[in-house]
Amino acid sequence: MANYQKIKGTRDFYGDKSIKLTYVENVAKEVAISYGYGEIVTPIFENTDVFVKNVGEESDVVNKEMYTFLDKGKRSITLRPEGTAAVARSFIENKMYATSLPLTKLFYFGPMFRYEQPQTGRFREFRQFGVEVYGQGSPLLDCDVIMVAYAFFNKLGLKNIKLKINSIGNFESRGLYSKALKEYFSKYVDKMCPDCQRRINTNPMRILDCKCDKDLEIDGVKVMENAPKINEYLTPEAKAYFDEVVDTLKNFNIPFDVDYGLVRGLDYYTDTVFEFIIESDDELNGLAVGGGGRYADMIKSMVNIDVPGIGWAIGVDRLISVMENQGLFTDLERRVDAVIMGLDKDSKIAGLQLAQEMRKEGLIAEMEYCKTAMKPQFKLCDKLNPRFIVIIGETERESGNYTVKNTATKTQEIVNVKDIISYIKNK
Ligand code: AMP
Repeated sequence: MANYQKIKGTRDFYGDKSIKLTYVENVAKEVAISYGYGEIVTPIFENTDVFVKNVGEESDVVNKEMYTFLDKGKRSITLRPEGTAAVARSFIENKMYATSLPLTKLFYFGPMFRYEQPQTGRFREFRQFGVEVYGQGSPLLDCDVIMVAYAFFNKLGLKNIKLKINSIGNFESRGLYSKALKEYFSKYVDKMCPDCQRRINTNPMRILDCKCDKDLEIDGVKVMENAPKINEYLTPEAKAYFDEVVDTLKNFNIPFDVDYGLVRGLDYYTDTVFEFIIESDDELNGLAVGGGGRYADMIKSMVNIDVPGIGWAIGVDRLISVMENQGLFTDLERRVDAVIMGLDKDSKIAGLQLAQEMRKEGLIAEMEYCKTAMKPQFKLCDKLNPRFIVIIGETERESGNYTVKNTATKTQEIVNVKDIISYIKNK
């Protein structure tokens, strides 16, 4: 039997939902542009390698969550699960490094796809607003990039967002840390999930973001909570870099916590990693609305050019749920300015002409297209609750003077057709 239902974990956007989405998208673009970012639109699908190599074979995203398929030419294609790797691919392929350094600042806004278990704030198709900056590595730049996200949150009026920040060090620090994790987890690995049993040899850091074993307790030991923390393994350079990020952040008015347990689920990060977390007293408490970090070596590993990067991605669907909870969507709906009623066929044509003129002037005008009787047209007015109702009958049409009712004051006036737009605009 044909299945006409939407795919699990996807949503339709219409009415209020699409108004909210468009609003958030417009604010995102406005803020990014005002901070000197240019938009980049990459394809929804890429060669699978783009993600596997950069996001990491042992990450949940690559391992379990990608929508990967063979196209008719037997190429392995993946619906993008995130933006960073795709933007890096484009940066390299278009040789942006040749013309736009020392700093290339890009932003994107669009759908991502992950095969995850749908639940609060987790979908299979969701949207991300993200930024990527290539060309320099500096604690000051890390802070600047984080501040763009806060400019966006502030413009939306978002409250109770906390920054959690950590450093996962450079490759040397990570090597030392991986060794320590391997040793620690070897005591527990027999009781862990098959993925973790594999990861202990391939990439022990990825055990820390395992969704199955996250609350594992063995002989009274909370296995994840007690694992060694990366800060004990940072090299002096990595530690000095992170200290400077934290010191710089103190100059800005944003609440943040250093969280040594934060490692982020994607392999490409180095040094600074962070998440934006909601604090509230409902089911959204603790939800990450975004996250990101620095990736010093991603570009170098794809082409041999030493260009560091940093970026973040904010989950727009989650953000909208939080904004709904915080009551931030109060004045989004624009009211219809006028419903135009035509009481005979020619008056309907005159009404349609007036509607066109109004729309050109930015007014929202609606009409009933089929019926000339009063009743169905007033019914439409009841539904749309316009600011004004314009009534055109034979007499009005011949004189050019239409009846205009003000629905707020419940008064009506005769206004010449040439003056109606300015009359409505001035009220
Ligand atoms: P990530 O790319 O995993 O760092 O995720 C960045 C942000 O995207 C998260 O903080 C979430 O807000 C959002 N996000 C990630 N996965 C999903 C999902 N499956 N559904 C909705 N939002 C998501």
